[in-house]
Amino acid sequence: MTEFRQNKELKEEKILIVDDSPEIIDILAGALFEYKQMVATNGEKALKIARSDNQPDLILLDIIMPGMDGYEVCKQLKQDEKTRNIPVIFLTGKTEKEDLIKGFLLGAQDYINKPFDIEELMARVRTHLELKSSREKLKLVNQWLEQKVEERTKELLIAKERAEKADKLKSSFLMNMSHEIRTPMNAIIGFSDLLNNPDLKSEEKVKFIQVIQESGDRLLHLIDDILDISKMESGLLTISKIKCSVLKLLSEQVMTFNDLKIKMEKEKVEIRLDKNAIRQDFTLITDPFRFKQIITNIVDNALKYTESGFIEIGYSILYAKQPKKKRKAGEVLSFIRFYVKDTGIGIPEDHIDYIFDRFMKVEDKSKLYDGAGLGLTITKNLVNMLGGKIWVESVPGQGSTFYFTLPFEASDKEIKDIGLKDKIPDKFEWTDKVILIAEDEESNYDLLEHILKKTKVLLLWAKNGKEAVDMCRSNKNINLILMDIKMPEMDGYTATRLIKKIRKDLPVIAITAYAAEGEKEKSSNAGCDDYLPKPIKINELLQLIDKHIGAGGKK
Ligand code: ADP
Repeated sequence: MTEFRQNKELKEEKILIVDDSPEIIDILAGALFEYKQMVATNGEKALKIARSDNQPDLILLDIIMPGMDGYEVCKQLKQDEKTRNIPVIFLTGKTEKEDLIKGFLLGAQDYINKPFDIEELMARVRTHLELKSSREKLKLVNQWLEQKVEERTKELLIAKERAEKADKLKSSFLMNMSHEIRTPMNAIIGFSDLLNNPDLKSEEKVKFIQVIQESGDRLLHLIDDILDISKMESGLLTISKIKCSVLKLLSEQVMTFNDLKIKMEKEKVEIRLDKNAIRQDFTLITDPFRFKQIITNIVDNALKYTESGFIEIGYSILYAKQPKKKRKAGEVLSFIRFYVKDTGIGIPEDHIDYIFDRFMKVEDKSKLYDGAGLGLTITKNLVNMLGGKIWVESVPGQGSTFYFTLPFEASDKEIKDIGLKDKIPDKFEWTDKVILIAEDEESNYDLLEHILKKTKVLLLWAKNGKEAVDMCRSNKNINLILMDIKMPEMDGYTATRLIKKIRKDLPVIAITAYAAEGEKEKSSNAGCDDYLPKPIKINELLQLIDKHIGAGGKK
């Protein structure tokens, strides 16, 4: 039978009295009146109560009972995870030493001899309850401590990882910087030294000077990048937005990139403007200088990390789904999303998030690529400053596509395909005239074709200097040549020299990549009549052509 006796001044602790004698139960209950009490008259009942959710805090356990004796009850209590920690005090009529030892071996905490000394009984009960409570508090404190240690360990691990990353960044920065400064410096010092040699052939001299100039450019580029970064960080970089033609921004750049490509000996990479980007135009209010910086950084990388295939530049307009009536003047309605797609080495997935961070470079074990890891940081900052976002999608081994958006504040009039030809002044019309374009890059030819379409001039296309010479030989109707200088098989200067031998009066306009000093002189030495540096300015080109074949021109 299980009883629950409640007294007036109850303490919270519950004591289970296990005894088959009602007299003993009465004595104990009386003595322990302060506590909540539970009673079991045999071993089975005692176990049931001990295992219930309403567990006692202490058990007073008689040894000799009918059925299951006190030792067995104690053994089972101590074997069970749930009841193991309840202190057990044996109530024993015997005083034999073995019995006590047996009880302690089974895990009992204490014993009390019958007949009881009430004060001793109370003192022992109190002590064991206090011990239990202290054990439980200790357990809680331990748990709390363990949790704290775990949290601390996690924090320390994060801090350690951060410190390691910072350390790695610092050393990779130092290594990068040292490499980025030393390489061009070594070239400058080494080749300047070699220039002192009086026996140097003149071609060697030219080559050495070129290396020195290129190394100087590389250093200057690094310094510009560092200055840009520090200006950005101190908020000193300024943006000045004006109305720009997207087509103009892109086409001028593509021509420059095509020349850079030759300089970088990446002839196997085609750089092209997406066909739609050539056929349409939009007005974009942005900072053209910063825009060019963004595109240049992305395409420079694409060229660096692509050995063959193509780099394509294009864009699409993402219109906002906002009803026309609700638009306010000057409000950003939509975005223009530019892309630069390459077929290069790609970027491993776990690096995608980091490449825009300062000094971050993907380490490639097969090849050492130049670069301080600053370009994309600057690019990201610039895009953000212009109000856009930048991201990349990439498949290692297949290529990468960099996207960036810019706010597109367009009026209804501007959101239409205005077409480049509408920009070309009507006054130029050269019906019956024939222009030969010597240009190895299809996208450059496409662009010139597009610019010149409206003038009704007939166009011929030679893909290298040799073809241009052959075409001049076989076609006497050609009125003018637009001559690219860097071309495979035969360059533009050699071709011009040969053409001038065949047709002395045929005007040749040299189109050169670098507004480098001496280039103008070189072109006139080769016999070119005029010279146009890239990026080509549409009006300048038309004026120049008109000068030679227009109504008021020479021919
Ligand atoms: P870096 O001067 O090293 O090129 P960037 O900040 O421009 O510095 O680029 C950071 C890193 O991003 C590069 O080191 C390279 O690992 C990776 N990366 C950038 N563009 C490309 C790309 N088109 N293809 C493959 N990896 C690229």
